[in-house]
Amino acid sequence: MPCKLAAGNWKMNGLRADLDEMRALIAAHPDPDCRMLICPPATLLAPMADLAQGSRLLVGGQDCHTAKRGAHTGDLSADMLADAGARHVILGHSERRADHRESSDLVSAKARAAREAGLTAIICVGETEAQRDAGTTLEVVLGQLRESVPDGANAGNTVIAYEPVWAIGTGRTPTLEQIAEVHDALRAAVPDAEMSLLYGGSVKPGNAADIFALANVDGALVGGASLKASDFGAIIAALDAA
Ligand code: PEP
Repeated sequence: MPCKLAAGNWKMNGLRADLDEMRALIAAHPDPDCRMLICPPATLLAPMADLAQGSRLLVGGQDCHTAKRGAHTGDLSADMLADAGARHVILGHSERRADHRESSDLVSAKARAAREAGLTAIICVGETEAQRDAGTTLEVVLGQLRESVPDGANAGNTVIAYEPVWAIGTGRTPTLEQIAEVHDALRAAVPDAEMSLLYGGSVKPGNAADIFALANVDGALVGGASLKASDFGAIIAALDAA
């Protein structure tokens, strides 16, 4: 069985004071059935990992470099993330593919670096609205999967997140049938049938249960709704109940 995972992506949000939300989350969900993960900005990684000690909360990074160290101003290596307490790292998020022109080849190289550092890579794939309108969703998503997931990836070191670009931060979501179509295709295409498949894009307490009821959805990658313990906690509860 694939692991159930509720993963939060704080993006470029969060100051030290916001760690209180994680204290509240841990207090409200001391022993969830699913894995719960927050990927804060790099500045909060070590303090969040410290406060998560002894709890079920996992912390992760939002990106890593392909190299272990060197002259790469502003970048972080996978080893540095692991050293700060990360267990996972999000790679190939559509905001990085767009804002930093990251290619699937680069994402694959980053996933290899993450694996060498002992991190689980959460590799994101997803179509733009224009690609969906053009009827190329499966071609785009399966192409990104093929090119972004390195050889040797398995359920122990890799998670796939399907995130339609047009659903991220917009409050819009695909229909359940559209999510199921992509997740069923991903399940058939991943190199290890046990690999967890997350859905991401405007997941909220109000729609989580319906999405988690789909056969090949093993959890969610959550942006905005992961910032508040009450919202993310409700999503964790929905995943536990699924
Ligand atoms: C994301 O950042 O990956 C995401 C899915 O954001 P949101 O939940 O806010 O749409």
